[in-house]
Amino acid sequence: MLITIASGKGGTGKTTIAVNLALSLKEKLPVVLLDCDVEEPNAHLFLQPTFGQSQRVMTTIPEIDEDKCNGCGKCSKFCAFNAIAVVNHKPLTFPELCHSCGGCALVCPTRAITEVQREIGLVETGVGCGIDTTKGELAIGSPLAPMVVEAVRETAPKDHTEKAVIIDASPGTSCAVVAAAENTDFCLLVTEPTPFGLNDLTLAVELAQKLGLPHGVVINRAGLGDRKVYDYCHQTGIPILMEIPFQTQYAACYARGGRLVEEFPDLKARFLQLWDLIRAHAKENHERGQLG
Ligand code: SF4
Ligand code: SF4
Repeated sequence: MLITIASGKGGTGKTTIAVNLALSLKEKLPVVLLDCDVEEPNAHLFLQPTFGQSQRVMTTIPEIDEDKCNGCGKCSKFCAFNAIAVVNHKPLTFPELCHSCGGCALVCPTRAITEVQREIGLVETGVGCGIDTTKGELAIGSPLAPMVVEAVRETAPKDHTEKAVIIDASPGTSCAVVAAAENTDFCLLVTEPTPFGLNDLTLAVELAQKLGLPHGVVINRAGLGDRKVYDYCHQTGIPILMEIPFQTQYAACYARGGRLVEEFPDLKARFLQLWDLIRAHAKENHERGQLG
């Protein structure tokens, strides 16, 4: 099972769910946690892994040989990301905007552009609390989060039939979230029962639907806010798979980097139940797909 834990917005407790689900499952089956929230990875703060392996994620950016450049501006016109400007027939590059498509080098009539390597992130792998953990971290200012997410996903075991591979995606509905969620078996959406939670949940649901992923909801901080998230889920038929009540001792545990299921062992059974529900929904969806 390969599942993604996503949320329409930050601060809903997505990483808490990912980490504590992983900790609850580790006695039952091998667990791998992939932290694909590459702009702000924080699962390692809870699991405290020792990273034994690291890999730099590289891409290419253009380098212009001014001696060969005739100032025609074709590269600048081609670039959809404004990563090259030609001012007074002089080309200027903005590597932090470059999406590494390679098109400018292709359209340059004088072959003045060559592609050079640039580091866009780092992927580290290790073990923390008995869980194989991979963390991806995007280089500051790079727009290429999806490439770093893909590099993190590359570290997942190819055969995950008897394993739980849990992907902690970035908050929101960006390309990085798509890269984290596509081709997984299930997308778990974490929200909170507030108007903001509902608004962002609807966006996350749309994304899961577009990707054709079976999905369900965890309501964190249940008891706060109003019932609109519940009404939305009931009206749209999206299953609510777990609720975690709002309790100050849970919030305090999170704030000091504590592990909920260790401090509140009764929660472990509930996370195991969550896993069973995820499996059941994913299986049902798979069987429906085969019939269809
Ligand atoms: S490689 Fe693509 S994105 Fe980067 S500067 Fe060239 S055209 Fe623009
Ligand atoms: S396309 Fe080539 S020759 Fe034309 S401005 Fe760009 S780098 Fe210079």
